[in-house]
Amino acid sequence: MVYRIEMAGAGERFEAQADESLLQAATSAGVAIPHDCQLGGCGTCRVKVVSGTYEYDEFPFGISQEEADAGFVLACQARARSDMVIVAAQAGDDVSAPVQVEARVVDVSALGPDVRRLSIALPEQSDLKFKPGQYVNVLLGDGERRSFSMACAAGLPVLDFHIKRVSDGRFTDHLLSSLKAGDRLDVELPLGSFRFHAEDYRPLVMVATGTGLAPIKAILESLMDDPDCPPVWLYWGARSEADLYLHDEIPHWGERLYEFQYVPVLSRPGSGWTGRRGYVQHAVCEDFADLSEYSVYLCGSPAMIDDARRQFLAKGASIDHLYADSFTFQHDADALANLGT
Ligand SMILES: Cc1cc2nc3c(=O)[nH]c(=O)nc-3n(C[C@H](O)[C@H](O)[C@H](O)COP(=O)(O)OP(=O)(O)OC[C@H]3O[C@@H](n4cnc5c(N)ncnc54)[C@H](O)[C@@H]3O)c2cc1C
Repeated sequence: MVYRIEMAGAGERFEAQADESLLQAATSAGVAIPHDCQLGGCGTCRVKVVSGTYEYDEFPFGISQEEADAGFVLACQARARSDMVIVAAQAGDDVSAPVQVEARVVDVSALGPDVRRLSIALPEQSDLKFKPGQYVNVLLGDGERRSFSMACAAGLPVLDFHIKRVSDGRFTDHLLSSLKAGDRLDVELPLGSFRFHAEDYRPLVMVATGTGLAPIKAILESLMDDPDCPPVWLYWGARSEADLYLHDEIPHWGERLYEFQYVPVLSRPGSGWTGRRGYVQHAVCEDFADLSEYSVYLCGSPAMIDDARRQFLAKGASIDHLYADSFTFQHDADALANLGT
């Protein structure tokens, strides 16, 4: 059985066999749908279904039931069961298609006990266009890759990353410790659809855990000195004081943003902590009776994002104005792939 798939707004059409995913069918037809893990984990290939029906072999973990109910589907896992009309997040002219490049390490330095800043320079001839909020895959040479979000506004010659050490992690614990200035690092970029949505015209509630701050920082840097910058509430969750690796710097962002509120929240603070305690998403719920007028950006641990999504939707947040960048790790994806075999 062959179905006709139309990309609304893009003027593109392709055919999909019943046994192939929407993404496979689009790719074979030369139609671009932004994607990355292809295992239903990262959510990059999320599209909205305008009409038509589809099926999953297994409901993917990179999308929530609420998003599915609102008509969103992961193109890498969904198979058409009728002709369909879908809307994909177009990369647009302002974002380059992903490429693999040989970058050079500029610096690796400690930001906190468990977080390092990695700075890399792209080759001079690469004229890549990307959006703050997007990420990079570090290629480990044997087909494995690790994803890290850019922590700086687009257009800079050197890219910064905030990398949390995962105990015994191949890249963050072992390889990163041995990297020094001048070393080669192969990367693929730009990736992902997490970015600022200026078209929302809404105040922003941004919620990060740990190094989930990185893409939020990139987005906020791009809004600095912008007369159209909306009011911003930044909630940053961590375990203890030592994990708030930019705590002293963040209040200064407010000098160049319009109406900026910074709320750090610690789940296991020391006795001297006078700030907010508990889980960061609960602090947001305590502070906002109604989230229906806000755009919400969630970034960091998958557990926080799942819980925040559920609780914020119950508080009126709109699924169409809720954006998430879940820091899943490769083993999640591998485990998922194995579940299906
Ligand atoms: C789109 C995207 C953007 C990301 N951006 C960032 C970023 O900016 N900064 C950042 O620090 N991380 C980020 N991550 C998470 C990062 O990619 C993973 O933590 C990475 O897999 C760690 O690689 P590793 O080789 O050190 O550990 P691995 O060798 O992959 O894993 C070692 C062990 O640790 C577990 N593990 C791996 N990562 C984590 C984790 N995060 N939490 C708990 N257990 C884990 C694994 O299951 C495994 O058992 C991002 C992930 C995604 C999908």
